[in-house]
Amino acid sequence: MNKFFLFPFFLIATIPFANNAQTQSIVDFLEFESNQFAEISSLIESRSPLDDCDEAQERSGSPFGKKRAILIGIDGCRIDSLRAADTPNLDHLANNGAASYFTQCSYGQPTYSGPNWATILTGVWADKHFVLDNNFFFSNLDEYPTVFERIREAKPDAFLSSIVNWEPINTRLVTRANSEISAVSDEWVTQLAVCSILRDGPDFSFIQFDELDAAGHRGGYHPENQDYLSTLSRIDGYIGEIMEVIQQRIDKFDENWLIIISSDHGGTASGNHGGLTAEEVFVPLFFYGQDALNRPISRPVPFNTDIVPTLLGFLELETDPAWNLDGRTLPGVKIEIGIELSPTSSEIILKWPGVMRLESSVPSTGSWSDLGPVKSPFTISPENTSKHYRLSY
Ligand SMILES: [Zn+2]
Repeated sequence: MNKFFLFPFFLIATIPFANNAQTQSIVDFLEFESNQFAEISSLIESRSPLDDCDEAQERSGSPFGKKRAILIGIDGCRIDSLRAADTPNLDHLANNGAASYFTQCSYGQPTYSGPNWATILTGVWADKHFVLDNNFFFSNLDEYPTVFERIREAKPDAFLSSIVNWEPINTRLVTRANSEISAVSDEWVTQLAVCSILRDGPDFSFIQFDELDAAGHRGGYHPENQDYLSTLSRIDGYIGEIMEVIQQRIDKFDENWLIIISSDHGGTASGNHGGLTAEEVFVPLFFYGQDALNRPISRPVPFNTDIVPTLLGFLELETDPAWNLDGRTLPGVKIEIGIELSPTSSEIILKWPGVMRLESSVPSTGSWSDLGPVKSPFTISPENTSKHYRLSY
């Protein structure tokens, strides 16, 4: 109960610094959070989620050096409507990065938010993570944990942040983040994300917008629904605000950001999703930043399961084949492949992050044999040096 009684003091402390409009929003935000006493109390003990974010602050000691990744999820983003809507910021990301408008969010699983955010965050389909609906009655996240767990295991000092407008993502999927906030509106998601990026410079941030899906349920996900298109434009503006503060960090600290845009599902003209029609299954997937190539991603055809291995590849974290991920590292982001020669044993050691396929060939035959997704590092011994090897996505 102590924690409960701390809650009103935070309200009182916050309101005098805000104008009327902000006060209303802050109260909404705290009321929403008030069922999460543990989190609120930790915020009270440290700081408000909107403290100390007037300008970008440098972060020392990141285990990723200058690399930072942000995954922005737009719930219920149908591709033909995205093409039709006025979205200058998303267009800029797509036109100057590695982009696909035909990424599959499902390989047979129902196109609901629960299973599909679970797929985006774990890199496996529902037959493995076992989140089958939005009730999360079952889940197998111990065996197939989210990218938050993967990064935390590899780099215990990483700063991880999750700011969402669909609360079950934080309560059911995200674990071991340094900052985990469920906001009441996409506008609040933006304010909190802007503050977190400026102040904390998280190594990995997950940001989720939810109001587009609500507009789709109200009047359909199709491009003739003006409410859906204007909601998409508004969210595009929020993404622009986030891009602006990321650019501030790049200009000031020379950081190397990867921005990923994704969606959990599309929807039908009648305002539904859950099925396997093209309108529901195809979603956008964009990679943008210094290490993203400027090219469309069309081969291989991307899946939402590819997000985790591509993200881990960017962060130079090794992906263990024992994790049994369903995705691959997509050819949209630069991946470092190391080649070492061992002077004592004449061995050649290949190292790569992410999930890649290794093939070998005896030059005289001209045919390649598939060695499968091989665990890095891979050692080529002297008796095998007459073979050819190739790594591919
Ligand atoms: Zn959804």
